[in-house]
Amino acid sequence: MKIRLHLTYALVTALLIGSSLILVARARSEQRLVIVTYEGFSELQRLGSQALQIINYQAGVLAALCSDGQVAELRQAGFEVRIIDSTANLSLYYLAYPLPATDPQALSIALASFAYGKDAYIVKATSEQAHALSERGVDLFKLPDSIVVPSPQHRPAAVSAGLMYSPAVQSMVDAVSPTLLLHHVCKLQDRDSLTYCNELGTRYSYATEGLNEAAQYLYDQYASLGLSVSYHPFSYMGTVMTNVVAELPGVNPGSDHIYILGAHYDSTSRDSDTFETAPGADDNASGVAAVVEVARILSQYSFPHTLRFVNFAGEEQFLLGSSAYAKQARERGDLIEGMINLDMIAYETVPPNDHIVEIHAGQNPSSIALADVLIHSISEYGLSLAPQQIITDATWRSDHASFWSEGYPAILGMEDFDDLNPHYHSKRDTVAHLQPQMMVEYTKASVATLAHLASRPPQEQPPDVLEIEGYVRLNSWDGPGLSGATVRWETVVDSAVFGETSTDAKGYYSFEPIAFSSAPMLILVTASREGYDVEPPEGHWLWYRGDHELHQLDFLARMNVRTYLPIIAKHYP
Ligand SMILES: [Zn+2]
Repeated sequence: MKIRLHLTYALVTALLIGSSLILVARARSEQRLVIVTYEGFSELQRLGSQALQIINYQAGVLAALCSDGQVAELRQAGFEVRIIDSTANLSLYYLAYPLPATDPQALSIALASFAYGKDAYIVKATSEQAHALSERGVDLFKLPDSIVVPSPQHRPAAVSAGLMYSPAVQSMVDAVSPTLLLHHVCKLQDRDSLTYCNELGTRYSYATEGLNEAAQYLYDQYASLGLSVSYHPFSYMGTVMTNVVAELPGVNPGSDHIYILGAHYDSTSRDSDTFETAPGADDNASGVAAVVEVARILSQYSFPHTLRFVNFAGEEQFLLGSSAYAKQARERGDLIEGMINLDMIAYETVPPNDHIVEIHAGQNPSSIALADVLIHSISEYGLSLAPQQIITDATWRSDHASFWSEGYPAILGMEDFDDLNPHYHSKRDTVAHLQPQMMVEYTKASVATLAHLASRPPQEQPPDVLEIEGYVRLNSWDGPGLSGATVRWETVVDSAVFGETSTDAKGYYSFEPIAFSSAPMLILVTASREGYDVEPPEGHWLWYRGDHELHQLDFLARMNVRTYLPIIAKHYP
């Protein structure tokens, strides 16, 4: 509100005495790139529900675009806010992970770089600089204009109900063929599709012929299984690249739930001419082979929910393919309940042969639940993998991150990052240097996980849960939060159910979630504090499963609501 008054004043004055003050007004509305420190995933969700343009989050820190007014508001609300770029330009930001072997000066070729999160940087760079950085071994992820912060959701029922061992799923797991897996890896690393395991080829994203040959191979595999297959093309700086998408539609007409198994099929190499040679056997023909083999087995069955098998291009170029795909899925309104990304699943040092693998879940409880199903499947079906679930230090450097940006639950399955393939991104990343058994076990784990998830019967849906939360603010809707206010809620019809709580230091309140019947219901939320008047005095009326009033509610989860309008308190002199 203060900012708006200043702007109006500046503009009126400018009309009277000249145009120079317009520049002052413009400067005040400039967007800043800021890093905000937060505590816990629910605080991130609260920040996400406000008008904050978040472009990425890591454990405890997020990056966002802010006006000066928003910076002041956040600081007033008690957040630590660091302005890292006072002239923000959304088209220039990348999340960067320099590898240990990377030239330490590499980031200095960018316009600017800022330490952010674990082992990561935000880099401000032109397209040419970004390209040069990735040539020097820096993993880059183009940051989107804004991300969707996931809303609180119920854990997949397969977890809450306990994943039950199934002999039917066991026979699917047993059907995984080590021979076919290696065959796919060989075909993908090869120069052509005529003979088996011949000269090394390339799947470098800009080597269009090699990339398209691999895309055609994958398309033919899925089509021969009777799946509906399509190309999903996208372009970057004049080069067209293509994702390959296959679908096994769910047979339950009431279900629009989708589970995705994905792996990027492009490759790169730092010690050869990538237009000629980039075999990428571990990175990531291994993951692609697993996706094709899982599709072969599961396509022989039908499931209530839809399964999609997606191979992405452009992963080595800032996750371009998965970004384009996930963004389009969000715009279509696809209900993706889980995305499992396999990237580098066929290497470990022998000895010790410890079978350690990393499952990167991140902080979203729905992604953690997805990781739980995968880890549980590994133990239920006796697979030789030692999974480590990674939550706070989860990496954004592969295609699952594109789904995180769109608010979808997603996980990454990969080999042990502390025992990374020494032939990574080199011409020696070939079948000869793989430990194929890890790929076999990962494929079996993926078969079991997807079979269980896609079989979830509809009646396993958890009961409706009602959650109410919001803010009590002083004087206006964008005023500071008011602490210590008492907030009550009750049902109007029978007054039988009600709760009482008080606001925290930021004026925020929330009630314990409550299981509810599905009958329409009117709920009243009121706030009070000694010495303050409250607007509106009658509180806020919320429809629970109402009809035309629904636009006043934001849905947090399937049936969860929160107050859309904050309660305003005024000091009573
Ligand atoms: Zn990869």
